[in-house]
Amino acid sequence: MGSRQVSEQLDWRGKRVTVAGLGVSGIPAARALAARGAVVTVVNDGDDERSRTQAAALEADGITVRLGDGATLPAGTELVVTAPGWQPDKPLFAAAAEAGVEVWGDVELAWRLRGPGAAPWLAVTGTNGKTTTTRMLASILEAAGLRTAAVGNIGVSLLDAVLGEEEYDVLAVELSSYQLHWAPSVRAHSAAVLNLAPDHLDWHGSMEAYAADKGRIYEGNQVACVYNTADPATEELVREADVEEGCRAIGFTLGTPGPSQLGVVEGLLVDRAFVENRQKNAQELAEVADVRPPAPHNIANALAAAALARAFGVDAKAVREGLRAFRPDPHRIEPVEEVGGVMYVDDSKATNTHAAEASLAAYEPIVWIAGGLAKGATFDELVERSAKRLRGVVLMGADRALIREALARHAPEVPVVDLDRTDTGAMSEAVREAARLARPGDTVLLAPACASMDMFTNYNKRGEAFADAVRELAATGDA
Ligand code: ADP
Repeated sequence: MGSRQVSEQLDWRGKRVTVAGLGVSGIPAARALAARGAVVTVVNDGDDERSRTQAAALEADGITVRLGDGATLPAGTELVVTAPGWQPDKPLFAAAAEAGVEVWGDVELAWRLRGPGAAPWLAVTGTNGKTTTTRMLASILEAAGLRTAAVGNIGVSLLDAVLGEEEYDVLAVELSSYQLHWAPSVRAHSAAVLNLAPDHLDWHGSMEAYAADKGRIYEGNQVACVYNTADPATEELVREADVEEGCRAIGFTLGTPGPSQLGVVEGLLVDRAFVENRQKNAQELAEVADVRPPAPHNIANALAAAALARAFGVDAKAVREGLRAFRPDPHRIEPVEEVGGVMYVDDSKATNTHAAEASLAAYEPIVWIAGGLAKGATFDELVERSAKRLRGVVLMGADRALIREALARHAPEVPVVDLDRTDTGAMSEAVREAARLARPGDTVLLAPACASMDMFTNYNKRGEAFADAVRELAATGDA
């Protein structure tokens, strides 16, 4: 199985570290560093009630906290540890660069603090599908009897996983582009980039910078760099990466796999990469029906997860068992209920056009509920590619006009209901309107292609509102 890596153990005593940002990653980072004898100062932009309470608790443990000033680099700083969300063009980082001071994110810190003989990382990034793939991977590793956890940009912080009591054989690590930006020396056992579509470009500055940050995940890989054959940009990143001697490029495809690829043949997921004599042989891993839900993009996620597990030496049986045991997280293509022969599906997590396009590709005909905050996106491509599947569309939210205009350009024949409201009650009306447009056998799909914050606290709340509205519809027999 995977080789063990020995991390370099730094002597932190007396080292002056500035932690940027009081928050989910900043507080544990500050404490972990102080516990190792570092002289820690936390700087934070905000100075509200909550940060004062947090600051008081840290100060009681000998950590200095500067509230209301996240821009100035404290004198004598030898290292900055930043929350991943902090934008790279912040003055604090310019000051650090000027002073020749390194900047690490939470992931880099976890990597550097992990103990000798720490578990290797199987890492996953991409614009969409990260959480699903990472959790599928953890499920497969568990089925193989390995001690593992899904960690990173996924609920459990890497620092907690690395410093906690629990011992692991291997970690399934989800990494965001922000985290990768601040993680210069992380070296995964194997890693996958699922896809690359424009997202978060305001943060990274350009598509090139975004892709370059995603590509860091391949740097120093030991066994496999897993890429998506349908997305040449991911393969390009593999080509550019500097990897360990003998590390292989492994593609995944929804078609028949070539040598060194995983793919699909006659309803089966098959491996033509981690088998003997891959020119001739292939190994059946699972059935497409073992993947939940069996939508095309999700089969791709399963293949990527399987590739990483196989790179770690997991056998085919565990891949099948792990995929069967996997349960998707809520609001990700989640069937809610069938009402009047129409299936209602909640993909509230489709917060960008790339994700929405994937879920629209999974059904036909569809009554599509969309809209919200567009975050600078355009909808022409999405609408053009999905038009033939649409029975009708119900729009709501702040930027719905952008989608309406794209529909007028590319799908003028599709009926559109434009709800001129952004209050939370709009969801009930949207579902009733969708029910009116749908015919038995259709799918009503909430895949907004937009963020939710104009109307809801987050995508979870939006998905719950949708499910409530569907149940209300079922109860009133409105269908
Ligand atoms: P992430 O962690 O990258 O946000 P999730 O697994 O939470 O990804 O899925 C987010 C949304 O992206 C899903 O609701 C689905 O609509 C879409 N999605 C999932 N996997 C893919 C994929 N491989 N390609 C395109 N879209 C996907």
